[in-house]
Amino acid sequence: MAWDFSTEPEFQDQLDWVDEFCRTEVEPLDLVFPGAAYSRDPKAKALADPLKQQVKDRGLWALFLDRDLGGPGFGQLKLALLNEILGRYRSAPVVFGTAAPDTGNMEMLAAYGTEEQKDRWLKPLMNQEIFSAYSMTEPQGGSDPSLFKTHATRDGDEWVINGEKWFTSAGARADIIFVMCTNGMFVVPRESPGVNIMEFPALHNHIRYENVRVPADHLLGPEDGAKVLAQRRLGGGRIHHAMRTVAQVKLAFDIMCERALSRQSHGKVIAEHQMVQEMIADSYAEINMLRLLVLWTAWTIDNTSTRESRTQIAACKYTCAKVLREVSYRALHTLGSLGTTDLMPLQAMFAGAPTMAIADGVDEVHKVTVARNVLKGYAPHPGLWPTEYIPAKREEARKKYEAVIAADPALAAWADAAARHRLPRF
Ligand SMILES: Cc1cc2nc3c(=O)[nH]c(=O)nc-3n(C[C@H](O)[C@H](O)[C@H](O)COP(=O)(O)OP(=O)(O)OC[C@H]3O[C@@H](n4cnc5c(N)ncnc54)[C@H](O)[C@@H]3O)c2cc1C
Repeated sequence: MAWDFSTEPEFQDQLDWVDEFCRTEVEPLDLVFPGAAYSRDPKAKALADPLKQQVKDRGLWALFLDRDLGGPGFGQLKLALLNEILGRYRSAPVVFGTAAPDTGNMEMLAAYGTEEQKDRWLKPLMNQEIFSAYSMTEPQGGSDPSLFKTHATRDGDEWVINGEKWFTSAGARADIIFVMCTNGMFVVPRESPGVNIMEFPALHNHIRYENVRVPADHLLGPEDGAKVLAQRRLGGGRIHHAMRTVAQVKLAFDIMCERALSRQSHGKVIAEHQMVQEMIADSYAEINMLRLLVLWTAWTIDNTSTRESRTQIAACKYTCAKVLREVSYRALHTLGSLGTTDLMPLQAMFAGAPTMAIADGVDEVHKVTVARNVLKGYAPHPGLWPTEYIPAKREEARKKYEAVIAADPALAAWADAAARHRLPRF
């Protein structure tokens, strides 16, 4: 029987270790020295690097990459189970060498880079010796890539890039930026002359590329191949976000349930009020629907490819934002005034839901993808009525019983009555 929801014991041991390690090592670092895991400051590194080393010693570094590229080669399903833990903690992905936007960029390099490009950028990215950013969205167009204008012109042994990008996350701190041009994907060192980073927005940078020169070998993948590379990058990134969202909604749920059992109102714990029970029951079902969708998608990627799983990935993408919005709202509501403060993580989680519906492509576009792909499996009904139109189906089915109907008047009366939607008593 292949439909199996159990986890093999050796891997469960790994999951248990990750759970314990995150609670005892990663969360305290997050709470006392927020941002330390990302920092290049030597004092911060002295705190975070030993944790990263423990992850490496355990064979869990760069979880998303195959074995030949230096990762553990777990595949997406195991990664999903791990990310259900990591997603609870702000800096766990970086402590495990699996943080966006580097992961997606590394996947692009792994899939399309030449050996020389992999040596130059993939290995240092994996070791967090350098960091990267991804520059695709432009101020005049985000959802529709046909509106992008940034272009590279060949000049001898170099490409000259001109254009304007917006919302390049972590662009200001990146060493290299993957810049999507109308005619290819380019790796641009951030310190190249002409990479002009605006002051705002602070985290998701607005960048003007003004006559930026890069050597010819900074083109990643084929010329004119940027869209294919972008799909590869974004597909992987979206499913990883979805895995981490499962962790977030489970955290919200845990907080809600604990509080429901702790808080008294009108003579009983609030868990005994039916409307609180309804919030818990709805959240339980929605979290598990999301979780199963994500795990099934991960399994499908492992058994086919990211490209062949794009309908499911798109469905995960917009379901995440919806479940996060609903569950974090209910959890926040269950905590009353406390839920609205930054003494609990629920307000930030709820505020993050609209962002999740926009980042990595707006939900509408993903819904269009799902509807279009799903509709490929259907055809219009051939006549006036839908295929499931009951009178026509009954007429057809009646032919199967022609002989018994002809032989027995009682059965004929039964069939006639059913056709008139009036069942006689037998
Ligand atoms: C936190 C965060 C991080 C990001 N990081 C990066 C990054 O690192 N690199 C990068 O390049 N980009 C990044 N982005 C940008 C992101 O990819 C874009 O925001 C996204 O693609 C949408 O583009 P837009 O913001 O221009 O929205 P628009 O394209 O202007 O869409 C606005 C609204 O128009 C409607 N709409 C648009 N198209 C359709 C359609 N086809 N059907 C129906 N309705 C539609 C929707 O209601 C949509 O919400 C990030 C965004 C966020 C929020």
